[in-house]
Amino acid sequence: MSTPVVTRFAPSPTGFLHIGGARTALFNWLYARGRGGKFLLRIEDTDRARSTPEATQAILDGLAWLGLDHDGEVISQFDRADRHADVALALLAEGKAYKCFSTQDEIATFRETARAEGRSTLFRSPWRDADPATFPDMPYVVRIKAPEDGTTVIRDAVQGDVTIRNDQLDDMVLLRGDGTPVYMIAVVVDDHDMGVTHVIRGDDHLNNAARQMMIYDAMGWDVPTWAHIPLIHGPDGKKLSKRHGALGAQEYQAMGYPAAGMRNYLARLGWSHGDDEFFSDAQARDWFDLDGIGKSPARFDVKKLENLCGQHMALADDAALQQEIREYMGAAGLPKLTESQSRGLLDALPFVKERSKTFPELLEKAHFILTSRPIEPDEKAAKSLDLVSRGILKELTPHLQSVTWDRDSLEVVLNDFAAAQDTKFGKLAGPLRAALAGRAVTPSVFDMMLVLGRDETLARLEDAAA
Ligand code: GLU
Repeated sequence: MSTPVVTRFAPSPTGFLHIGGARTALFNWLYARGRGGKFLLRIEDTDRARSTPEATQAILDGLAWLGLDHDGEVISQFDRADRHADVALALLAEGKAYKCFSTQDEIATFRETARAEGRSTLFRSPWRDADPATFPDMPYVVRIKAPEDGTTVIRDAVQGDVTIRNDQLDDMVLLRGDGTPVYMIAVVVDDHDMGVTHVIRGDDHLNNAARQMMIYDAMGWDVPTWAHIPLIHGPDGKKLSKRHGALGAQEYQAMGYPAAGMRNYLARLGWSHGDDEFFSDAQARDWFDLDGIGKSPARFDVKKLENLCGQHMALADDAALQQEIREYMGAAGLPKLTESQSRGLLDALPFVKERSKTFPELLEKAHFILTSRPIEPDEKAAKSLDLVSRGILKELTPHLQSVTWDRDSLEVVLNDFAAAQDTKFGKLAGPLRAALAGRAVTPSVFDMMLVLGRDETLARLEDAAA
């Protein structure tokens, strides 16, 4: 039996959940969920000056919005500092690490001399093989004994074999002068202790992988499968930044993109499965594999995101969609739906969800059912309610009193009425939209009438005609 898959997302809580982070989380989640594995969450909060509880909360909220649920407790890296230090001390005890008493000044001087002499400026500590009898009574750091020659090969599932010359690696510090462990050992110890089998993360961590590998080797631990994914670029091919627009996952939530569309889009951002663009979560889980991750940076493309969001919205289950709309409205600070608005919205969803890419767009289409009498026409709609049109609406009303309230009958009545007025139905539509929704652009008049029902429709027409 092969080892069950364990992945993790390990954000540093120094800001919101970046689109790149959200994609990293999604890839790890898909990989684990598609294999009956575990997806763990570790908050890398060792940088006390830059980590904030607000940022941790923002990350948790962003993941919750995207539906990326994790297994087990959220792990705080900082809380595990003693364990990280213990591992460094174990390496020291085994002679795989050493005490280095060099001061900052000595290191600076070493570098200057090396530079002047055209040698590598990587610090080589004189304490690496020193006799403990010569140790001074002063503060020291603990450094790992990096391999001195040969190469380190990182077998990366995305980048292939990445070979690093060991003479490029320094004896990195594991424990600082005050005994606190550095970030690099924290990551390795945590991934090991958490049983992480696959590390999928941004390729900005590829250099770290070579240094982390030294710790795995020194401890005799299995190296996880690494998959370093290219960062996301903007449409201009430059690294994604603020000038490309929104960067935070939650900004997309606030703009009203449905989470399923966002997941689909983020999955396609750097990963592909044949020519498939639109897919369900279940398909993504089934299909997602490290083989499908591209080697070149994906470009963020809002049009594509919107297109996928539109498709997901159109196919969404109405009750689930309504729930998501409620959550969106809550997050956007919009008033809660009343019972009757809720019922009306559910009735209208089958058509208002068509061709909507975002919730604000959908809600604009649903305006007719969310608003109540007297309907306040906006500026454009008001233009369709001139004296002549109001007269026409007044004449139309009696024709609707006794007609069977279904689409076919309504179509017949309205078309006959238009013909009798010597006009086309299209001419009637403007005043009807204005009267029923107070808008010039609305869903189909018939759809609106059917959802509003006879009494409400007639009342709105009478209001407008008055
Ligand atoms: N905390 C790191 C970051 O936010 C991720 C480290 C890792 O995935 O190994 O970039």
